[in-house]
Amino acid sequence: MSEDSEIIYLDHHATTPVLPEVREAMMPYLTEKFGNPSSTDHRYGQEASNAVDEARESIADLIGSRPEEVIFTSGSTESDNLAIVGLANRSSSDENHIITTAVEHKAVLEPMHALEDRGFDVTYLPVDETAQISLKDLEDAIRDDTFLISVMAANNEVGTIYPTAEIGKIAKEHGIYFHVDAAQAVGHIPVDVEEMGIDLMSFSAHKMYGPKGIGALYVRRRDPKVKLDPMLRGGGHERGMRSGTLNVPSVVGFGKAVDVARADLEEEAERERKLRDEFYKRLAGAWDQSMLNGPPLDGPRLPHNLHMSFPPLESQAIIRLVSSDLAISSGSACETDRVKKSHVLQAMGLSDQRAYSALRVGVGRSNTEECLGNAYDAIKAALSRLQKLRPVTG
Ligand SMILES: *Cc1c(COP(=O)(O)O)cnc(C)c1O
Repeated sequence: MSEDSEIIYLDHHATTPVLPEVREAMMPYLTEKFGNPSSTDHRYGQEASNAVDEARESIADLIGSRPEEVIFTSGSTESDNLAIVGLANRSSSDENHIITTAVEHKAVLEPMHALEDRGFDVTYLPVDETAQISLKDLEDAIRDDTFLISVMAANNEVGTIYPTAEIGKIAKEHGIYFHVDAAQAVGHIPVDVEEMGIDLMSFSAHKMYGPKGIGALYVRRRDPKVKLDPMLRGGGHERGMRSGTLNVPSVVGFGKAVDVARADLEEEAERERKLRDEFYKRLAGAWDQSMLNGPPLDGPRLPHNLHMSFPPLESQAIIRLVSSDLAISSGSACETDRVKKSHVLQAMGLSDQRAYSALRVGVGRSNTEECLGNAYDAIKAALSRLQKLRPVTG
């Protein structure tokens, strides 16, 4: 690769670059349009307020909700906490049980653990080798005191897509609230809160080419009207569920990122799927013992996700060798503890060797065919080098 070429970014599940048009849209709100959207007695406040309204409408349009049902937060972590703890804090004495999965993001699992410490019961549904849950397990887990089901839309490590619409139907039949962590899904695959029977949904701008530190919680307002105990109390912003002056530049950037996603969601997903499939084929051809982790590529899987093991090599060794050319992740970037096996791969029952030899690839808008060709060359070279270094056994 030429010396002026940038490192190829293949970690779009961890975060995505801010698109130039998103940055452009944000700039005026970081400079002359600095008004507080709650101070609408003058033009500054009004233009900020209008910009927020517009972004909220775009976002509502993307997820099939009404604008008033979109609550701005700092991101999916906050949204997950607000949805889960906010609902639990308003539960009655005969609502004591929650169902979730073993493969949720820590932003769901940690609030669940905190609720267990407070006396709530939580069922963590097991998963199969592809990180998929069984709807039968879900139905069997439902009890008279179950008040919440929380299942992610798509997994951030191995890309598994969950049967959200079916789960929504089951939840509705039993009168149970349904929360979805859709951080990896919104802006990448179609998500519709009405069609899928979702009552609460978390998502982040930075997973879909918007800025970091801004996200949303969808909160259903009708059929049923969901009430949450706020975590932040103050001026009563965001219908009292999330007080604090809105981060207007970020809200505007979020709205712009959503507009971009809405314009070509299916085409871009198809483009990334083709790149991903070809990349997989070539990598599988380059290493005999390679294994695909997660669902089959033509199965319920995010079109831009690839997760592969290269036993008996260690993924850290591969990553080190390609680090000047590629930004690629082992397991999950959200797991800061590098040497610990991810809880997702653990729940899938993967062997230690398979887990420690795994690379996660997240293809994105910035990647072209040429990029992935270069990425393949870099990984192939690393594999050959590590192969030569290995002691001969037998
Ligand atoms: C990234 C991510 C989160 C956390 O999002 P933040 O924007 O970091 O708060 C939560 N859940 C999933 C599935 C994610 O991928």
